[in-house]
Amino acid sequence: MPLSAPAAAREILTRLHDVMGSRSATPAKLGAVVQIIGEALNSEVCSIYLLRDGLLELFATRGLSQAAVHVTKLAPGEGLIGVIAANVETLNLDEAAAHPDFAYRPETGEDRFHSFAGVPIIRREQAVGVLAVQHTEPHRYEDVEIEALQTVAMVLSELIANTGLADEAGASPTRAQTTAAKTILGLRLVDGMGAGHAVYHQPRITIEHTVAEDTEAERHRVYGAFDKMREQIDRMTSQAEFGVDGEHREVLETYKMFAYDEGWSRRINEAIDSGLTAEAAIERVQQRTRMRMRQIDDPLLADRMHDLEDLSNRLLRIVSGQMGTAAQLGLRKDTILIARNLGPAELLEYDRRRLKGVVLEEGSLTAHVTIVARAMGVPVLGRMRNVRREVSEGDLLLLDSNSSTLLVRPTAAMEEVFEAKLALRQKRRAVFAALKSEPPVTKDGHRLAVMVNAGLRDDVAALDLTGADGIGLFRTEFQFLVSATLPQRERQQRLYRDVLDVAGDRPVTFRTVDIGGDKALPYLNGDGADEENPAMGWRALRLALERDGLMKAQARALIDAAGGRALNIMFPMVSEPWEFDEARALFEAQRDWIASRNRMLPSQIRYGAMLEVPALAEQLDLLLPKLDFLSIGTNDLTQFLFAADRANPKLAERYDWLSPSILRFIRRIVDPARDAGVDLAVCGEMGGRPLEALALIGLGIDRLSITPAAVGPIKAMIRSIDRSAVMAEMETLLARPPRDLRGALAHWAGEHGVELA
Ligand code: PEP
Ligand code: MG
Repeated sequence: MPLSAPAAAREILTRLHDVMGSRSATPAKLGAVVQIIGEALNSEVCSIYLLRDGLLELFATRGLSQAAVHVTKLAPGEGLIGVIAANVETLNLDEAAAHPDFAYRPETGEDRFHSFAGVPIIRREQAVGVLAVQHTEPHRYEDVEIEALQTVAMVLSELIANTGLADEAGASPTRAQTTAAKTILGLRLVDGMGAGHAVYHQPRITIEHTVAEDTEAERHRVYGAFDKMREQIDRMTSQAEFGVDGEHREVLETYKMFAYDEGWSRRINEAIDSGLTAEAAIERVQQRTRMRMRQIDDPLLADRMHDLEDLSNRLLRIVSGQMGTAAQLGLRKDTILIARNLGPAELLEYDRRRLKGVVLEEGSLTAHVTIVARAMGVPVLGRMRNVRREVSEGDLLLLDSNSSTLLVRPTAAMEEVFEAKLALRQKRRAVFAALKSEPPVTKDGHRLAVMVNAGLRDDVAALDLTGADGIGLFRTEFQFLVSATLPQRERQQRLYRDVLDVAGDRPVTFRTVDIGGDKALPYLNGDGADEENPAMGWRALRLALERDGLMKAQARALIDAAGGRALNIMFPMVSEPWEFDEARALFEAQRDWIASRNRMLPSQIRYGAMLEVPALAEQLDLLLPKLDFLSIGTNDLTQFLFAADRANPKLAERYDWLSPSILRFIRRIVDPARDAGVDLAVCGEMGGRPLEALALIGLGIDRLSITPAAVGPIKAMIRSIDRSAVMAEMETLLARPPRDLRGALAHWAGEHGVELA
C-alpha cells in the first residue's frame, strides 16, 4: 500500500534534514539529495537542474551519466525540463518521448527511461530549477509521489537560496516577461511623475527554515496563527471603517470565507505532517494553489486568488512574527510603493523624501489616501490589479500618472523618453511657477481667488511656492491621523500658530476635525466601531458635537493660536442649520472662557460651514444669514448626490463631476450666497482640475481652494478665459445638457483658446 503523501514526504524530509544540516559543500549535498529521493521513490533516475546564466544546467543526478553533469543545459521552454521551469508547472508522463516538447540529450544516456515526472524548484514564485525523476517502466507516478517531490523541491529551494548556485531571477515566461521591460496601465489618481524601486507596503516574508525540528510545535504555531487571523478578520468585518479603507464588504466576506475554510487549514496541516515548518507549510499550500490557478484563465477566480494570497500572506506574517509594514522598516532608496490599498494614516508614515510614487491595486480619486498623497505631492496610479504579478520587490519603476502608465524594468530607451518628459514637465512647472506673482485675473478683468488646501505643517510652504491667496481649507484632522494618540491641546495650538505665522496676512480657514468615514482613528473607535456605513455615519461634526471635549480642546487651541489675528473657522458635514448653531455656540463659549482668563483673543472670528451634505442646500435661506462663508466640498457632495462611495474603486470612474446634476446643484447655491453677502468657495478636488474649474467659474464660483500642485495650471487657465463668455456657455450647456457635457465643454475650451494643462 502506498504511503500517504505526508508520510512519503516526511520520510524523505527526515533523511534530507541530516544532509542539509551536514557541513559538506552544496554540490555534495545535492548529490546526496538525489540519492535519497531516488531511493525513497524507487526511481532509477533522480536529477536536479538549476538555472544558471539563464540556462537549466544539470547539477546532480543519480541514474543519468555523470559525464552529463554541468554539461547538459537547456533553455527555459526547451525540452521537458525547460517547459516545467518556464511554466512553473509539474509534468507527470508515462512516456516522456511522446511529449511534443521532449528533447533527447545523448550525453545523459536517458533513452532507457520511459516514465518521467518533474516539479519546479520555486523561489519567489519563479522556477530557479527542476527536480525530476525517471523510470524505465512506463508508468505514471502516484499523486503521493508527486506531492512528495513538490515538498522536497520546496526544501531544496531553501538549500540553494543564498548559495549563489542558481540565478536569482527565475525562468518562467512570466518571469521572462517580468525581467523584460513592461508597461502597465492604471487609473491616474494623483498627477505627476516619479522614479524609484518597487517596495511592497506589506513586505514579502522570508522563510528561514523549511524542515521542522518538532512537528507538534509547528502545528501549535499554525493553530495559534489561524486563531489570530480569524480574530483579525472578524474584527475587520465588524468595524469595516477602521484600518481597512477601501476593502469592502464583499472582499471582507470572501476573506472570512477563506479564513474559516476547513480545506485550507487541513492542507496546511498535512504539509506540516510532511515535516515542514509552519511557514513552509503555508507557502507550500499557496504554491500548489498558484500552480492550479495558473491553468485557469478566469478573471473572477483570479480575483479570489488575490484574496487568498492576501490572507495567506497575513497568516505568514502572523506565524513568522514579521508584522511590520515597509514604512516601519524604513525606505532605503527612492521608492515607488505598492499596496492593495492604504489608509491615509498609513501613507503618512512613509518618508516623504524617498517616496516617489504610489501604485494601488484599488484606489479611487477622492479617497482620503489620494487626497493625502496629493497634499504630499506624491503621484499615484490606482486600479492596477495585475501589479503583483508583474512587479517584483526592487524592480526599477517609472511612474507617469499623467499618461496613466507604469514602466516596469525600463530599457535605456524608455528611461531616456521618461527623462525627456520629466524635463518638459519641469519646464512647464517653471512656467507655472513664474505665474506665482501674477494674480488670477480673467481676460475680462475679473479677479478670482485661488487658495490652497493644506493639512500638514509642510503644506503651508505651498503658499509661498504657488503665490496662492491663502489656505481655503486646512484639514486639521491630518494631525490626528499622523498621531498614534490623540494630539493634546498644546500640540494642536503649536501647529495652528505655526500655520498662521507662515501665512502672515493671507487668510487661513481652519476646518474643525473631520474624522470618521475613511479617516478612521484607531484610538477613537469607541461608539462608532461597528457602523455599517461610516461615510454616512458618526463622523465629522456629528462626532464632534457629541464628544464635545474634543471640539472644546480644539476651539481653545485655535483661539489661543490666533491671539490678536483673524480666525476663520469652518465646520464639516453640517447637515442642518442647528448643527452649525451648536458648533458656533461651543466656540463662542470657549472664546468667552479664554477672555475670562484675560488671554488675548483673535481680532475677529468668522464662522463658516461646508456644504457637502445635499440636504443642507434645502435650508439655505435659514442657514445663510448665520454664515460668514460657505465652502462646497465636492468630494463628499458627489458621493452623497450620486449615492456612490467615494472610496469604492468600482465606482471610481462611473460618475463625472461635469454632470448636469452636480453642476446644476452648485449653480443653485451661487445666487442666494451672493445675495446674502456670504463668500462662496469650492474646496473639493474638483476645483483643482482645469476643465472642472472652468465649469465652476462659468457657474459663478469666484473662489477655489485646491491642491497646491494645481494652482499654476488653474491660474494659467483663469488668465486665458473671458469669464462672461464661459458663463454664457455654461448657461447654454446646462439649459439643454448634451449627453457628453465634458466633451462639449472641452471642445468649446479648445475653440476659445482656454489653457488646459
Ligand atoms: C470634500 O468633501 O469635498 C472636502 C473638501 O472635504 P474632505 O475631502 O476632507 O472630506
Ligand atoms: Mg468632506
